[in-house]
Amino acid sequence: MTARLLDGKRLAAQVREQTAERVRKLSARGRPPLLAAVLVGDDSGAVLYADSQRKKCAELGIEYRLERLTADAGPRRLAELIGRLNGDDAVDGVILQQPLPKGWDAAAAQSAVLAEKDVEGVSPQSLGLLAYGRPALLPCTALAAWELVRSSGVGVEGAEAVVIGRSQIVGRPIGLILLNNHATVTTCHTRTRDLAGTARRADILVVAAGRPRLVTADFVKPGAVVIDVGTNRVEVADSDGRQVKQTVGDVDFESVSEIAGAITPVPGGVGPVTVALLLRNVVDAAERRLAGR
Ligand code: NAD
Repeated sequence: MTARLLDGKRLAAQVREQTAERVRKLSARGRPPLLAAVLVGDDSGAVLYADSQRKKCAELGIEYRLERLTADAGPRRLAELIGRLNGDDAVDGVILQQPLPKGWDAAAAQSAVLAEKDVEGVSPQSLGLLAYGRPALLPCTALAAWELVRSSGVGVEGAEAVVIGRSQIVGRPIGLILLNNHATVTTCHTRTRDLAGTARRADILVVAAGRPRLVTADFVKPGAVVIDVGTNRVEVADSDGRQVKQTVGDVDFESVSEIAGAITPVPGGVGPVTVALLLRNVVDAAERRLAGR
């Protein structure tokens, strides 16, 4: 491997340390920040995720409040709850746990969260502010990809950046963040004609396609910074020939790390930074509210 490894776990630890310090300062000025999570129904994955959020908040001194609704409560009760949290001065951030019950409009529910409290940064208002280049809470995964780009030390202004993927939560926002930082940005998707040729132009290549090992060495310009957002569970044969599950990215790490200048691993790259940045967004939201912005 010749590429420098962009270590997401280390970066996440730094973000957590800085965030904890900011929480201490906020607490000294009045109260710690408060994250309210809304969970509808009893999806076991969502319940586990909420537990893990509570622990991570506690580690940094952030207050965590879980608001639960039963699946038969209906979308109107959810809208009322979100409205109450929007208007509650004690609440700095609101997170809507997925999945919502079948048939509920998740986008509409997310849109109901005030942009100032939308710590996931995924509401249309938050994305609109990002598109306008105005201060906003940014989507955590896109922000994680950006922080890893920054940690590589690459010059962004004027650089060729190529993003593979145009989803609302990752591809589009990371493209906008790079554009707002003066990169020349190309966004690729399933209809892009020459994906490898376009990707090969990139000084900064961000891959968020959800396709295991889509990007091979022939997609990469020598020395490029490669950020792999993909998180795919695949079956591989272990040394005894048994099928086991493994998490891999959208980038073929083995071949690409021989040609890239810097690369994120999967796991251990974008994932841990994303989790840390959700909590940093809570603190950003609390500080902005305190400053009246
Ligand atoms: P998505 O399915 O919503 O979007 C995928 C995008 O990639 C689409 O715009 C599609 O056009 C494009 N695409 C798919 N196949 C392609 C191909 N062969 N060629 C070119 N473009 C192609 O996915 P998403 O929600 O943006 O997530 C993308 C990946 O990032 C997934 O693997 C997901 O698990 C991962 N992810 C990771 C984190 C994290 O914290 N690490 C968070 C969110 C998503």
